[in-house]
Amino acid sequence: MEALKHLFGIADLSKEQIEHLVNLGDSFIDINRRPIKKAPTLRGKTIINLFFENSTRTRTSFELAGKRLSADVINISASTSATSKGESLLDTGQTLAAMQPHVLVIRHSLAGTCEFLAEHLEHTAIVNAGDGAHEHPTQILTDLLTLKQAWGSPEGKTMTIVGDISHSRVARSHLLAAKKLGYHMRVVAPKTLLPSEVERYGCEVYHNFDEALPGSDVVYMLRIQTERLTDACAFPSIREYHEAYGLNAKRLKAAGEDCIVMHPGPMNRGVEISSDVADSLKSHILNQVEHGVAVRMAVLATLCGGHPEEKPVSKKKSSDEVKQAQGSLL
Ligand code: ASP
Repeated sequence: MEALKHLFGIADLSKEQIEHLVNLGDSFIDINRRPIKKAPTLRGKTIINLFFENSTRTRTSFELAGKRLSADVINISASTSATSKGESLLDTGQTLAAMQPHVLVIRHSLAGTCEFLAEHLEHTAIVNAGDGAHEHPTQILTDLLTLKQAWGSPEGKTMTIVGDISHSRVARSHLLAAKKLGYHMRVVAPKTLLPSEVERYGCEVYHNFDEALPGSDVVYMLRIQTERLTDACAFPSIREYHEAYGLNAKRLKAAGEDCIVMHPGPMNRGVEISSDVADSLKSHILNQVEHGVAVRMAVLATLCGGHPEEKPVSKKKSSDEVKQAQGSLL
C-alpha cells in the first residue's frame, strides 16, 4: 500500500488506504474508552490545527486525537491568527511550517487550500479538515467506521443522503467513497440544492424524499449550508423545506426496520431532522462523534509513521542490561 504523505480528500485515496485508516481507527476506539486515555504513539510530534471556518466536532476531535496519542497540539482559529491582520494564507502557512510541526490540519472555505499549501510547505504533512464545498475526508472515514461497527462492511448497502447536496463537502466525499467501497448512493434534494450532472457520480437522484426511503439502509441527513448559500430562493421557507425534506419518525417508517440515521453535525432540529429521530435508537449521530476521535488518531498516526502496537518505553531494565551495567562497574 502506498504510504500516505498528506490527506487531501477521498478522491486521492485507494480502497486499501481507506480500509487501512478505518481499521486503524477501529483499533483506537478502546483508548478513548479507558479511564486513562493516553498512548505514546505520537510522543515528540507536533500538530497544528489551523481553522479558518467554525467547527466544534472536527477541531475538538483532532485536538483530542493528537493529545491522546501524546503529541503536542496547538490550535489556531482565523480570528486569532495574523490573517485577520492582513497576512496571506501562504505567509501564515510558511510561518507555521517554519516552527517545524509534523502535521498541519487545515479547515478553510476555499476548495483546494490544502493542495495549494502542500506545494509550498515541503516538510509538513497536511490534513484537510474541510475545504469549502469540496471534500471532508475525515468525516467520511468517521462515517465508514460507524458503518463498520453497525454492519461490518458498507458494501452493497444503500445510503440515502438528503438535503443541501450542492454545498456539502460531506455529500461529495461520500459520493467518491461509495464508488471505491461499493455502497450505493441515493441523493435527495430540491433541484435548487443539487449540483448539475450529479448523476455522473453513479448515484440515483430523487426530488421526493418519501420515494427514496424504501430500501434505504442508512438515511444521512445534511444541514443547509447557509454560509455557502448564495441563492436566496433555494426553497420557499424553512417550514416548507422541513415538510418536504425533514426527517421525522413517521416518515422514517417507510425505510424499514433496520435502517439507521446519520448526520455529520451540527444538526438543525426542526429543519432537516426532528428530535423524535435525532434522539431515537435508530440515530448513530453520537457514535459518529465518538468514532471521529478514533479515526483522526488513525490519520495522525499514519501520517507521522506511528503505530498503535508501539509499546511505551519500559523503564524496567532487562536482566541482560542489568548484568551489563553491573559488569561495567566492576
Ligand atoms: N460538519 C460538516 C462540515 O464541516 C457538516 C456541516 O457543517 O453541516 O462540512
